[in-house]
Amino acid sequence: MHRTLSVASSPVRDLLALTSRPEVISFAGGLPAPELFDQDGLRAAYDLALRDRSVLQYAPTEGNPVLRSLVSHRLTGRGLPTSDVLVTTGSQQALSLVATALLEPGAVVAVEEPTYLAALQCFQMAGARIVPVASDADGLDPDSLRSVIAAERPALLYLVPTFANPTGRTLSASRRAEVAELAASHDFWVVEDDPYGELRYRGSAVAPLASISDRTIYLGSFSKIGAPGMRLGWLRAPADLLRTFGIVKQAADLHTSTVDQAAAAAYLTHNDLDAHVTRLCVAYGERRDAMIAALPSTVPDGTTWTDPDGGMFVWLRLPGDVDSAELLKDALSHDVAFVPGAPFFATTPDHATFRMSFTTNTPAEIFDGMSRLAKVLR
Ligand code: PMP
Repeated sequence: MHRTLSVASSPVRDLLALTSRPEVISFAGGLPAPELFDQDGLRAAYDLALRDRSVLQYAPTEGNPVLRSLVSHRLTGRGLPTSDVLVTTGSQQALSLVATALLEPGAVVAVEEPTYLAALQCFQMAGARIVPVASDADGLDPDSLRSVIAAERPALLYLVPTFANPTGRTLSASRRAEVAELAASHDFWVVEDDPYGELRYRGSAVAPLASISDRTIYLGSFSKIGAPGMRLGWLRAPADLLRTFGIVKQAADLHTSTVDQAAAAAYLTHNDLDAHVTRLCVAYGERRDAMIAALPSTVPDGTTWTDPDGGMFVWLRLPGDVDSAELLKDALSHDVAFVPGAPFFATTPDHATFRMSFTTNTPAEIFDGMSRLAKVLR
């Protein structure tokens, strides 16, 4: 079978269709809260951008120079010195570009387990063999990575080191240093996928892996701090690789939407994105706290869950021999939803796990949804 035919449709995307009934309180999708979009700011930015006819024209593959410079400046300000980025159509496209440019069919990609399932799909479609690396509360386990390196010689390590999807976990600073050292000494690329890093609700920032490793390709996104419908992301890499990714992107889509890039550049020029992110963090932090507070009376004794410092997700594991996909059917009949954990595993799924997102419901809705869920789980 051709390799694209063997890649299943994302169960999460399929599920979103079922959870969109208005009476369902959904903890399933990893979506930003729509009521917190800066709709007025973005409308003004599009209006400003559209005063110039050239934003309706074809444009260079690398992206809008003003946007590239603003994003580079922002990354530098966050502790990741950056001279240039490639603008991508969401960070999802950056994942495809990485897979196309760097992976021969049969190449080994090491991933933290569990991990972002659309990254798994992307690497599978490139014909890669995916090898899981164990993780714990501090993120990827460097000892497990060492064993994988010795046995499999990976070409690439894919990581969401900060507030991971699906676990919410963050790779500690000392482990980042170990990963950087291993990448340098064993000559593999690290993909640091960082759409959630700015959404921190407590504690202090951990320096990006890319700031201590020149073997790291860093992916950022406007989706979680701005608006995902604009489909804007960026890729930072050493200059020669950045050029290669640009050539691959040319074949993929010529360039990312000119008008969306121009609007983002106008938005970043005339608005305080940091202040907007702070507003998001206040609201999401309250939602996170509401979910964590409701959990002990929602889940059965013996359940474990992560306690994320940021991002969008709590990851749970139920006791005993249960299948969260079966429980989801019950949950949907009680008008509440979550995402079963199995698809986030590269190889052997743990069916007792599931992911809950706290971003799109208010604390009151979260308490309501959690009491519905308690009827299913307890
Ligand atoms: N990486 C991770 C870890 C994600 O969770 C997501 C979106 N859910 C993406 C990449 C893709 O984001 P986008 O293409 O909207 O930037």
